[in-house]
Amino acid sequence: MDQAVRLPSAQGIFIDNQWRPSASGASLPMIAPAEGVAFAAIAAGNDHDIDTAVTAARRAFDGGAWSRLTATERGRLLSKLARLIEDHADELTLLEARDTGKPMSQARADAIAVARYFEYYGGAADKLHGDTIPFIEGHFVTTLWEPKGVTAHIIPWNYPGQIFGRSVAAALAVGNACVIKPAEEACLVPLRLGELSAEAGFPDGAINIVPGLGETAGAALARHRDVDFISFTGSREVGTLIQSAAARNHIGCTLELGGKSPQVVFADANMDAALASVVAAIVQNAGQTCSAGARVLIERKIWDRFVADLALRFGKVVAGTPEMDLQLGPVISAGQKQRIETMLHAAEGAGCLRVARGHIADGVPKGGFFVPPALYAQVDPASALAQEEVFGPILTAIPFEDEAEAIRLANATDYGLVAGVWSGDGNRALRVSRKIRAGQVFINSYGAGGGIELPFGGMKKSGHGREKGFAALYDMAVMKTMVFKHG
Ligand code: ADP
Repeated sequence: MDQAVRLPSAQGIFIDNQWRPSASGASLPMIAPAEGVAFAAIAAGNDHDIDTAVTAARRAFDGGAWSRLTATERGRLLSKLARLIEDHADELTLLEARDTGKPMSQARADAIAVARYFEYYGGAADKLHGDTIPFIEGHFVTTLWEPKGVTAHIIPWNYPGQIFGRSVAAALAVGNACVIKPAEEACLVPLRLGELSAEAGFPDGAINIVPGLGETAGAALARHRDVDFISFTGSREVGTLIQSAAARNHIGCTLELGGKSPQVVFADANMDAALASVVAAIVQNAGQTCSAGARVLIERKIWDRFVADLALRFGKVVAGTPEMDLQLGPVISAGQKQRIETMLHAAEGAGCLRVARGHIADGVPKGGFFVPPALYAQVDPASALAQEEVFGPILTAIPFEDEAEAIRLANATDYGLVAGVWSGDGNRALRVSRKIRAGQVFINSYGAGGGIELPFGGMKKSGHGREKGFAALYDMAVMKTMVFKHG
């Protein structure tokens, strides 16, 4: 990458609007996935840093300048930050592309989405209101939505900016004070967003960011006794640890733990639209998207033709560096590439048939973590490739005979995050969609451009709680009931 990337002014811990070195002085290298080499270092926070950050957030929440703002004033600050993010979209695009390896246009879409989260929740901040409730004679009852307090945000590496936006903007809109632990693999955009929030004028302690390892900084944040709520997006294994830590402190959490999302294609669907969407939904971000369309269920009548067309399209997909700006970039790390290759090796050993494979562009750096996208058929619906999240650009195709089997297969994993249903028959599309257990179901589309306004979250083992849309505000707030006896 020739173009210089502006790194956050100090690779430290961001607390009370100031950078400070980590308590231990330790740092972590940041590896550019497209090159496989370190290009920066970040501070490695530990339990002392987490404690300092939580204490700052508590001060901000309990009587600090942040706690004295009205909902409208909070909303204005969020909106101001949205504009600043837009003004810095070029810089944030470069940073995200280098940090995650994603193509420039996807990194740009992410930067714009972060701005949009702050814009959306800026507008929503003063629109969260309670009810009045009929009660016994002589009483007046009303409910208020209040902030939970200090909220912890543990963020993954696949969309560092976007997930910061969706989780933190909603929490701030309600009036919580936030401590954020971004992922060790990619955290530069969250750190830069911290700086921009200070520029926007957020009071000290409203936004505190402690980078570092999951098992040290992340675990310390999850178990901290002065945290009131945890918002977590990541793996199921770590989700279990987070929920256990929350249980020990008797607090709640939102868990978004990924999926194995199906796209169900009926014979009467618009084939071109379905084909394009099915490819895009697994190739985007190299398949490292919680809501990736990882399974395609195809009506038997069109199986041969649809798989052949899909294979043609897959064969043309090319992975490259961020600057090449192709359909996908590398995966995040050497470990992730290895994990995907091991899964595919096992699947092929078990009889799964690879029917198409995309390419890696000529001239990508040798050390980059590139995985060619691939399409698999003859996949047993009970096998690992049909059940487990690969988190890579790997699509699994499975045939079905009729509506009942389509629904059964769509629901035949532990996950339930997103689904797509493709059919020219609106009644059937609605019938099937209502029977699919997923937090979001798209009809004749998929993903729909990020959907900041659309409540998002899991059913089954994809997690619980809702982010995005107005619904997220309720998860970030707590209802207080007030009863006045006026006689
Ligand atoms: P992935 O498999 O996508 O890397 P993880 O669940 O490992 O997802 O990581 C998501 C986030 O959780 C990251 O910020 C990571 O640092 C953090 N994390 C990892 N392990 C722990 C842990 N034991 N406690 C708290 N947070 C953790």
